[in-house]
Amino acid sequence: MSGNVLQTWDVVVIGAGPAGATAARRLSDAGASTLLLEKQSLPRYKACGGGVPARTLQLLDHVDISPVSEGYVETIDISRFGRHQFRKTSKRPLAWMVMRDRFDGFLTDLASEAGATVRDATPVQSIIEEAGCYAVETPAGMVRGRHILACDGATGPAARWLGIPSASTRSAAYEVEVDAPTMALEHWHQAANVDVGYRPWGYGWVFPKEGKLSVGVVMAPQRGRSIRKQTDRYLGRLGLADAEVINVQGHPIRYRRSEREPVAKGRVLLLGDAVGLADEFTAEGIAYAVHSANLAADAVLNGDEAATIYTRAVNRYIQPELDAARTISRLYYWCVTTWPWLALAVSKYVNYLWRAFFRVMRGDSTYAHELSFLPFSGAITRTLSGHA
Ligand SMILES: Cc1cc2nc3c(=O)[nH]c(=O)nc-3n(C[C@H](O)[C@H](O)[C@H](O)COP(=O)(O)OP(=O)(O)OC[C@H]3O[C@@H](n4cnc5c(N)ncnc54)[C@H](O)[C@@H]3O)c2cc1C
Repeated sequence: MSGNVLQTWDVVVIGAGPAGATAARRLSDAGASTLLLEKQSLPRYKACGGGVPARTLQLLDHVDISPVSEGYVETIDISRFGRHQFRKTSKRPLAWMVMRDRFDGFLTDLASEAGATVRDATPVQSIIEEAGCYAVETPAGMVRGRHILACDGATGPAARWLGIPSASTRSAAYEVEVDAPTMALEHWHQAANVDVGYRPWGYGWVFPKEGKLSVGVVMAPQRGRSIRKQTDRYLGRLGLADAEVINVQGHPIRYRRSEREPVAKGRVLLLGDAVGLADEFTAEGIAYAVHSANLAADAVLNGDEAATIYTRAVNRYIQPELDAARTISRLYYWCVTTWPWLALAVSKYVNYLWRAFFRVMRGDSTYAHELSFLPFSGAITRTLSGHA
């Protein structure tokens, strides 16, 4: 008989990306019974540049990611439509380069070592609220959780099932991994390209990996249809048109634009891309996914008011960064598309801007802090971030 009684987990985590794996590790470390469900077989591919901002390591409790690191970037090379402009180098690494299947697999293994039960190839099909818990349906049967952490990414269904209207602003991103010739690998050793000029905003990137390059473009959604063509042109300008393509995939990125967009309901918390925690300047989301995992785990471990505690924490620690990044994004991309030569000259010669950006990437500062030095920064942020 007892075999038929469903175990009720303290927490069921949906999705084994950086958000889900980190939350599962933290919760298990603290003694919470945690089930991590992933719809794909692990390790799974994820369309991503795989640039992990250096500040992420602090948020990951300084775990040693060297087993899955494919190097780092300390130099940013700026071009406009493929024509080289200038390079800037940081004293310390700005971002670690990873392949997401290995990186996310590594974080999931840490969760498992901490005591979490991991079930891959197990898509969640529905979530139903019951008295005191949630019933989560999967093809392998029903499981129950007192709390649910929805970490199911930018296209995950959990927010929709729960009727949580969130992060409707999107951009299109397209990534191609190429088997690059040795000369290209040497050229991009510890250096990333950022290619600007795309209207109304967006950029192309080259990130170096072991034996290959990740090349991609992120753009406003209304330009999404041309993103493939733009990426092909960009590859051509990089001299990589004939390089062997290993992987290619497009994926949306969602952005939470206001404190009014809910991040939780009842005892269900939404983390990372599932609720649009990515910034509109660099379009990166790994650091925010991990940060939200830490805040969600703390909120769940703190008692019955997890939704309130988590919402407050996201609005206090993450949303000001997303707002500041959006303001910087609007200022920067407007300048670079309206007065490109002036904008690039300022970017080239005003080293302060680079030092500020490097400080943010490394975790020595925040966008909000750096923006506060701008005259009338409060009014500019309110106007440009849409909170006027
Ligand atoms: C092309 C591209 C390039 C990018 N480059 C960078 C970059 O260089 N640096 C950076 O910081 N960010 C980058 N990002 C953003 C980054 O990929 C995301 O912000 C990050 O993956 C968010 O992590 P997450 O854990 O919230 O979600 P994800 O990593 O998307 O993980 C969600 C997981 O949930 C699973 N899932 C979905 N539905 C279900 C279900 N029903 N049941 C069970 N599991 C489910 C999925 O299979 C997936 O494994 C990029 C994004 C794109 C699209």
